[in-house]
Amino acid sequence: MNVVTQKEAEAFVATGAKEYRVGTGMLLTPSARDVFSSHQVKIVSVEGPSGSASPVPSADPAKMEELFRSEEAERIKREICDIGRRLWQREYVDGNGGNISCRLTENTFLCTPTRVSKGFMKPESISLVDGEGRQLAGTAARTSEITTHLALYRGEPKARAVVHAHPVHATAFAIAGVEPPPCLIPELEVFVGRVPVAPYKTPGSAEMAAIIEPMAAQHQSILMGNHGVICWGDSVEDAYFKMEITDAYCRTLIVAAHLNPSHSGIPAEKMQDLLEIKKRMGLPDPRYNLEAVRLCEIDPWEVLSGKASRCSPGPAPGLADVSEDLVREITDQVMKALSQG
Ligand SMILES: [Zn+2]
Repeated sequence: MNVVTQKEAEAFVATGAKEYRVGTGMLLTPSARDVFSSHQVKIVSVEGPSGSASPVPSADPAKMEELFRSEEAERIKREICDIGRRLWQREYVDGNGGNISCRLTENTFLCTPTRVSKGFMKPESISLVDGEGRQLAGTAARTSEITTHLALYRGEPKARAVVHAHPVHATAFAIAGVEPPPCLIPELEVFVGRVPVAPYKTPGSAEMAAIIEPMAAQHQSILMGNHGVICWGDSVEDAYFKMEITDAYCRTLIVAAHLNPSHSGIPAEKMQDLLEIKKRMGLPDPRYNLEAVRLCEIDPWEVLSGKASRCSPGPAPGLADVSEDLVREITDQVMKALSQG
């Protein structure tokens, strides 16, 4: 069930459109209905998949089609297909899982379709969406998880591409709720940094987006609790590299934990050297201002054996989101109960 909240209704009203089309599987909260009625926006029911039925009043279809067929768009489509193949070959995605997107212009993004294996996509499978996730061009319906990608783009303007997948080792940390302990391998420290665990929220939901958005500026790779991994980069390949480095790190830790390790990791002052290198490369890291002694204060092996307290989860959503979140959660539970009955 795709619930349209007050916030989403307000964003739609701001476009100046006077008709909101509600597709199959979409539900409007009472406050969203109030926003529409106070702006004289007509609510129309249509057949179609959830979340894809909103019209885009401001986009000129011919211009969008031209943009969608531009040389740059075609190059990115090919790159997305290539990275999709690499995700599948490395077993980072299974079934129809995972998704990829790339910023094309300030407010348009190319993204992978829903219900397609990422290993076998063709450039014509790729769609164009706006910053609200509304489809502007392309025949295949866009991924439902685009909302999480868009949250990363909003949270960090430097993000040019986003890759989301379910690689087994990193996802194992995500389902265990364990943040991979730092200070063990320079590759991760320099090119990725701290990899936090975001609390579980329904994939593609507004709550998921609200959790991820504030984390983007400080983290290029985030474990999504009970779900998978999402990474951003300055190109599709760069975002994919963050995914590879994150999963390789988690995999190595799982193997090393079986060797009864006694060595406690990279010394704190050497960690500062790594962070210096990273800073010169212009990569974000929330640890730049930490004292050396605080960089490696956790014994990584104690974290992995469950003896030390786990690393903290990501930031909580802002207070403003709470009431709408609650509405959505209650609605989801009601719908679930109804469908079971
Ligand atoms: Zn997913």
